[in-house]
Amino acid sequence: MKNKNYLFDNKKRTILIADDEYINRELLGNILKDNYELLYAEDGLDAYNQMVKYKDKISLVLLDLIMPKMSGIELLGKVKEDPRLLNIPIIVVTSDSNSEEMSLELGAVDFLPKPYPRSTVILARINRTIMLYEDRKIIKHTERDTLTNLYNLEYFYHYGKLFDQFYKDDMDAILLNIRNFHILNERFGTKFCNDLLKTTASKIKEYMKEVKGIVCRRDADVFMIYCRHQDDYTKLLNELKDEDSGIIIKMGIYSNVDKSIDLSIRFDRAKHAVDKIRGSLTKNIEYYNDKIREKELYEEQLINDFKKSLNNNEFKVYYQPKFNIHNETPYLTSAEALVRWFHPTLGLISPGVFIPLFEENGLIEQLDIFVWSSVGKQLKEWKEKFGYIVPVSVNVSRIDMYDPNFINNISNIVKENGLSTSDILLEITESAYTENSIQIIDIANKLKELGFKIEMDDFGTGYSSLNMISELPIDVLKLDMVFIRNAFKEKNDTKIIEFIIDIAKYLDVPVIAEGVETKEQVLSLKKLGCDIIQGYYFSKPIPSDEFESFIIKRKEMINNADN
Ligand code: C2E
Ligand code: CA
Ligand code: CA
Repeated sequence: MKNKNYLFDNKKRTILIADDEYINRELLGNILKDNYELLYAEDGLDAYNQMVKYKDKISLVLLDLIMPKMSGIELLGKVKEDPRLLNIPIIVVTSDSNSEEMSLELGAVDFLPKPYPRSTVILARINRTIMLYEDRKIIKHTERDTLTNLYNLEYFYHYGKLFDQFYKDDMDAILLNIRNFHILNERFGTKFCNDLLKTTASKIKEYMKEVKGIVCRRDADVFMIYCRHQDDYTKLLNELKDEDSGIIIKMGIYSNVDKSIDLSIRFDRAKHAVDKIRGSLTKNIEYYNDKIREKELYEEQLINDFKKSLNNNEFKVYYQPKFNIHNETPYLTSAEALVRWFHPTLGLISPGVFIPLFEENGLIEQLDIFVWSSVGKQLKEWKEKFGYIVPVSVNVSRIDMYDPNFINNISNIVKENGLSTSDILLEITESAYTENSIQIIDIANKLKELGFKIEMDDFGTGYSSLNMISELPIDVLKLDMVFIRNAFKEKNDTKIIEFIIDIAKYLDVPVIAEGVETKEQVLSLKKLGCDIIQGYYFSKPIPSDEFESFIIKRKEMINNADN
């Protein structure tokens, strides 16, 4: 039987058959010998030694699980620890269907049952596995980004190191990106933006000839440059921008790099610099300096201290009431849980400082779970104490939404505390939806099915189109604070607020206005049709024991109305 050749060249690949029984080696060998070079091992240790010896030659291992000297399971464990062997796919051959799962967990890519299936099935599976692995290796090893033809990150660092070895010049590490690239993408489409990336890449490459450097595209619209020190980069910046189309480049420069530190850290510094001017309308170049260095050190300390602080209960959950303003007398409808960090040496730290940082490195997940469980426990306590529950909303970071355990975690908190899913409201920021809308919408739908209510936070600052919003499973719109700020700054101009309230009406959901500080604002928001208000006008976020007075008042109101 001749096998269809799926592989891109005709070279015969080598397969190692590891089985202690002669008859099995013989059977498999006969099926495979026309298409593959074969090696045989009669026990686990022998198999392992051959894998090490022929690691560059073996394309696949067929592994029996029960063998003398070293079992197949042991061998899988050893391979998993050995980076030299990780690139060799292993298919487990077993008559015991119970061990399939364990084999997969230990890193086997597939399994073949004993007795063997038809030889065509075996060949097809083996071929496919080898092909997938080779593809993967090629993808990993291409040195260039296919869109721009620039180096990829791995090669960029590799060449950067070579550069340092051969030249003693002063070097600059630069990170540059295109301002509001995602908006350009929405406005002009993918084709336009891909062309933009290509021209940007080729212009930078041209410039590299002048300054003798290398460039790569790190991801999306982020480029990295490593070149001989220049005093001024405005020329490059001007070449890359196109103000008519709204294309502006932001550049962070770590000048005269310290070559004793890791290349990736040099570019972290360039990134810190560019991050600093991300929102600026006037500044497009920033140099890494002592101030940024201080901030970097401060942030490092926060990251280092996080775990300990979490264990030492230094994070506290504060509650800020939300009031319904429909009636003459406003009444409490719910609260928002906001975390505070009481750091033993740095004092009270605002979430505005540490949340974005923890979102960047993923620590936010642990912190949020802590906040949600504190809220769960608190609600349980209040329910027992007052016989009454005020729903509390918690903030859900976009990173949480990608955690496969997210729904489980939050549901368990509800269950463990004897609550209902409607007691914990979920605030999800609008920008989370724009990023990977399908996945996020899917999760939001699942949450709704479970009975959770979803508040779209920071509404108006993301970039969701009307079209998209109407598809989203949301129960409340939370108007971002900036609109309140801007509307009541000098002379009142509430057009944007009116527009957003119209959207909410169209979606048939209530609007919460956040950051409301004055009576004047409350009155005019009420006139505009805003339903719920959160802000210093009613209360700042406060510790749970202080918040109890709000619950008590609300309960009295209800009791009075009943009588
Ligand atoms: P946010 O979700 O938009 O929360 C509202 C922020 O506005 C809070 O700041 C609140 O204290 C503040 N605020 C409320 N009313 C007023 C007002 O009338 N005037 C002014 N000037 N500010 C007001 P906070 O507590 O500093 O939190 C900042 C951000 O940190 C939050 O913005 C939220 O994005 C994030 N955050 C806070 N706690 C958590 C948390 O537990 N988990 C996650 N993932 N994020 C959190
Ligand atoms: Ca919020
Ligand atoms: Ca908000």
